[in-house]
Amino acid sequence: PKDPDIERIRDQFDFVRSGRVVTNNAASTQPPRPLLDLYRSLIPFYENVHRGQSNASGWTTDRFEAAYDTIAQWLNAPSRRSIAAYRNTTEAHNAVMYSLLTEFRDGDNVVTTMLEHNSNYVPWHALTREILPRLGRRVQCRIARFDHATGRLDLDHLASLVDTRTKLICCTGASNFLGTKPPLPAIRAIADASGYPQPTGERRSRLLVDGAQLVPSSFVDVQALDLDYLSFSFHKMMAPFGVGILYAKEHLLASSLPFLYGGDMIADGQVFPDRVEYNELPWKFSAGTPNILGLIVSAQALRLAVDLIGADRRLYFRTEDPLPAPVVAATMQVIGRHTARLTERAMAALATVPGLRLLGVPAGGPRAPLVAFTVAGRSPFELAAALNELGVESRAGCHCATLAHHDLGLDPPASCRLSFYLYNNLTDVDRAVDAVRRVVATAPGSAVTAGGRHRRD
Ligand code: PMP
Repeated sequence: PKDPDIERIRDQFDFVRSGRVVTNNAASTQPPRPLLDLYRSLIPFYENVHRGQSNASGWTTDRFEAAYDTIAQWLNAPSRRSIAAYRNTTEAHNAVMYSLLTEFRDGDNVVTTMLEHNSNYVPWHALTREILPRLGRRVQCRIARFDHATGRLDLDHLASLVDTRTKLICCTGASNFLGTKPPLPAIRAIADASGYPQPTGERRSRLLVDGAQLVPSSFVDVQALDLDYLSFSFHKMMAPFGVGILYAKEHLLASSLPFLYGGDMIADGQVFPDRVEYNELPWKFSAGTPNILGLIVSAQALRLAVDLIGADRRLYFRTEDPLPAPVVAATMQVIGRHTARLTERAMAALATVPGLRLLGVPAGGPRAPLVAFTVAGRSPFELAAALNELGVESRAGCHCATLAHHDLGLDPPASCRLSFYLYNNLTDVDRAVDAVRRVVATAPGSAVTAGGRHRRD
């Protein structure tokens, strides 16, 4: 697929007219105008799903269910029965944790990595250090190291942590701090070799991939990669806040307990004092009124991305036409290539700023479209506040990648991060890096480095 016309794409985003240099996309991306318009156009049919006999409810239910199909197609999942919708990636990880709670046996372990976002570490920490001990079960959480110079996951170390008691390996698909993209086929192979006897009959460890930073810029084919679980958040891929997805193999969703209990996750009329019967998938994992408009609009954001890129002659936005996997792959290849180019340019320019230390994957390596750095003698918070004064939106802190910041010995555990998405152009990169250069050349506390809002983290 050919390179996209970025200026034409930028025209679809209101923020562009404000002149903001939005380079904090790993936190959240901006929504395109057609998507916001879509919200309004759904209002005449504003009704709950699966809970009414009106035309509006039927219409909304159809759109809502079709959104699940779109999301399944996006991941090349066999069907919507593998898709559970939550509020965000964090909630998806918690859903896996709680649904497996009863399955962990005394002496089991979970293997995760030092590269994880807290959302894919703290649930496993809590499970193994707080929840299961109170239930009288001892389960370990083991953490694989990474190479400090390159940010690469130490696969040998990971493999050494996995044994016949490893129920689950939880690994990020792309680090939101060092950019590392661990090799998922190699990790799958390590999981396969463990021999762990799952209650569902397989003899291997399950693999959960945190796709929050992977899915927005790559085609993640859950079947080709043989993933058991994959999570991601729509707010990092040009869609509204409030929708996170858990893909899970259908037999895992079928066999595991739901995370949340209540209405709609029950088969019609099947609640009795002595038993309840769960609804068919995926509704078994959809308790309570869901984020209906959020999900419909999020699925359409995927379709709009295809159209913005021009990956097919056919236009998909505002339709429910099946999305062929090659069209999705082509779309994501373009987004991945464009954002990688921006990242490489930023890294090359940042490398020439005096005192600046780039962290993570070296230039040319497989990297999520983000770059974190520190500057000798300068606070990342002060730098980011000064960049903000110059109109450049970055992020300072540990980005919830707290383990990796500690592991690298960063004191305070913080860095400054620029991250890119489809609508960023080369001028954004140059403006951001020029601003970094200016701020670094200026004494801390002077006019350009004053400020310091949003210090949390
Ligand atoms: N994992 C990674 C790698 C992330 O970058 C993020 C968001 N920073 C998350 C998980 C959590 O996403 P959310 O806040 O949407 O739950």
